[in-house]
Amino acid sequence: MNTRRIALVGILIVALGVVAFGWFRFVAHPAAVACGYCSRPLHANLSVTAEIAGKTTQVCCARCAISEANQQHKSVRLIAVHDYSTGRSISPTNAWFVEGSRAMACEHDAMRMNDMKGTQELAFDRCSPGTLAFANKQNAEAFTVQNGGAVLSLAKLMSEVRFQ
Ligand SMILES: [Zn+2]
Repeated sequence: MNTRRIALVGILIVALGVVAFGWFRFVAHPAAVACGYCSRPLHANLSVTAEIAGKTTQVCCARCAISEANQQHKSVRLIAVHDYSTGRSISPTNAWFVEGSRAMACEHDAMRMNDMKGTQELAFDRCSPGTLAFANKQNAEAFTVQNGGAVLSLAKLMSEVRFQ
């Protein structure tokens, strides 16, 4: 009698665990806070959904996704990007990309410094040149007037992926 009760309690605990896991996994959907490739914090108006080798990942910026694809020797597909000025999710096919502007797209954890404590430009950064997305071309061009950089179409941007 007692062992049956213990077994019953055990089954109940396992069932509760399965329900809790299912709730977290499929209902709560905790939002990603860090880039799936480089672990930098995700920003609402920069984050990108990218797919490399069939795996979808939330990424800090389009540049990071292209760097990752080139490092993995794979092609990459952008699934969603965010308009830099509004933070709205937009389709990459309709987006215009600003590359190489003075606006720092991703935060850098450390500043490179020489032995005389003088700061130096970062030699390589996987998120550089920063790439921002805009829903319309006029906004992208207005941004480059203020901050420098060049306006690119999706096709032009993706031509930087070395393994198509
Ligand atoms: Zn990243």
